[in-house]
Amino acid sequence: MAADAPGLLLRGGSVFDSEARAFAHGVDVLCTDDRIAAVGRGVQAPAGIVVLDCAGMYLVPGLIDCHVHITSSGDPAEMSSPGTLSLPTRAWKSAEHARATLDAGVTTARDLGAADRLNIDLARAIDDALLPGPTLLAAGLGVTMTGGHGHGFIAREADGPDEVRKAVREQLKAGAGAIKLFASGGVMTPGVDPLSPSLSEQELAAGVEEAHKAFRVVGAHAQSTEGIKNAIRAGVDSIEHGVWLDEEAIGLMVERGTYLVATLTAPWHIANGGLDAGIPPYMVDKAHQVLVDHIESFKRATAAGVLVAMGTDQGTPLNRPGENAQEILRMAEHGLSPAAALLAATAWAADLLRIDSGRIKEGLRADVLMLRRDPLDDLAALADRANFSAIIKRGRVVRQAPDFQAGGKS
Ligand SMILES: [Zn+2]
Repeated sequence: MAADAPGLLLRGGSVFDSEARAFAHGVDVLCTDDRIAAVGRGVQAPAGIVVLDCAGMYLVPGLIDCHVHITSSGDPAEMSSPGTLSLPTRAWKSAEHARATLDAGVTTARDLGAADRLNIDLARAIDDALLPGPTLLAAGLGVTMTGGHGHGFIAREADGPDEVRKAVREQLKAGAGAIKLFASGGVMTPGVDPLSPSLSEQELAAGVEEAHKAFRVVGAHAQSTEGIKNAIRAGVDSIEHGVWLDEEAIGLMVERGTYLVATLTAPWHIANGGLDAGIPPYMVDKAHQVLVDHIESFKRATAAGVLVAMGTDQGTPLNRPGENAQEILRMAEHGLSPAAALLAATAWAADLLRIDSGRIKEGLRADVLMLRRDPLDDLAALADRANFSAIIKRGRVVRQAPDFQAGGKS
């Protein structure tokens, strides 16, 4: 951490307690360097530290989006004609998407696939403070079977356990902070049926083994029932989408602690934006096929106690950078309590990604979103920028509303 950030005391706010699932009032949060050093009442301010008066403010952990494609804009034309923009142009645009995502209060995101592994370069640029954005766990390219979903834009093709192993090792060598495997077809690749499984259980298991050896978390794109079960049995950490979950798949997820990252937002936009927005007909047809069953699966899984974490699939058509909180509202609309929906985007997301963030707790990374309204009264507060007073990432105030006091020195 730079020497110009000796610390920050957030004085007297209402702080979200992830274990109690409620706000504790009049609580101080002391941040030293990039960490939370103390949480409690009457915390002493070390000399020279910046103090922010947070009375009346609601402090929640910085949001964590477990499934983005941050190098994509959500422009339907871009998705249907990949490769028309040069790599430098995509890089400039990606910088803007990263800024927009941070502005939405997202302080960490997992990027599950980008052409040219641009997500890894972006993650480094953000870590090096070249440009603003969330801390990124970038998968590089996903790994799919020959002709499988994602090929030609966000995935590398591989067949057989050994080749999958090699493909995963390539991403790790390039600096991937997460791994993405494709266990079924999907909506956005022409001629690929979301109902069909893709990489086999043996192929997936080889990829999982390589990822886990390197302490990386594995997300498996899995929509079809058989693809989902292959992925769970292969030991992936999260099922992405999970459109067609049957009772056996739900039982396996509960038993093995496999997370569901439903990305309810992605098919919603494709189905509702539809042909009018210029989305190709094959995609709109497939999204309608997905939508109803997807929501049913989500409701049954959460009722059965499957672990959930928030992911938007940002970058899919009309699913634009910086609109991440809509997934929290959608999860609540389909059965989660407001506190559970917030936890899915903070503490539970951190548990899935195995990162030291996601809670306002001593020793963890000081990532905080400060709100003017209580999000448990109305989750829409998380999606309303006018309601944000400050965003703190790794102990630094990275965004501050002009009318929120600048803070004084103790
Ligand atoms: Zn995705």
